[in-house]
Amino acid sequence: MPPLNEQLDALVTLQDIDLMIRESRDPEMAIHEGRLGFARENVQRLEQTRERLASRIDGPLLRTYERMSRRIPRLVVPVEGRVCQGCRMSLPTSSSGRNTPGTSIETCENCGRILYRI
Ligand SMILES: [Zn+2]
Repeated sequence: MPPLNEQLDALVTLQDIDLMIRESRDPEMAIHEGRLGFARENVQRLEQTRERLASRIDGPLLRTYERMSRRIPRLVVPVEGRVCQGCRMSLPTSSSGRNTPGTSIETCENCGRILYRI
């Protein structure tokens, strides 16, 4: 498996793709824009890219993402100056976040989002 920071990079891109797939699948939007066929082709391409990215992410991390992203939109967020960009709360200086069991990823103690350093 690639190093964790590369896996997180892949996960952030995968998350963007998930959001795009969800948007493309929104029937109201597709009808509104009159491009149902185009949207379907687009989703296929996005799903292929998603699979390629998923293969670069460790199983436990990917499963944590799949499980939690159903509850939390924009699950993977950057940390800027110790502030979680998901909930805007400062992270305690004493810790660099909480590690999720089974993985070595950091999560925000306040909102539970997966954090990455930029
Ligand atoms: Zn947070």
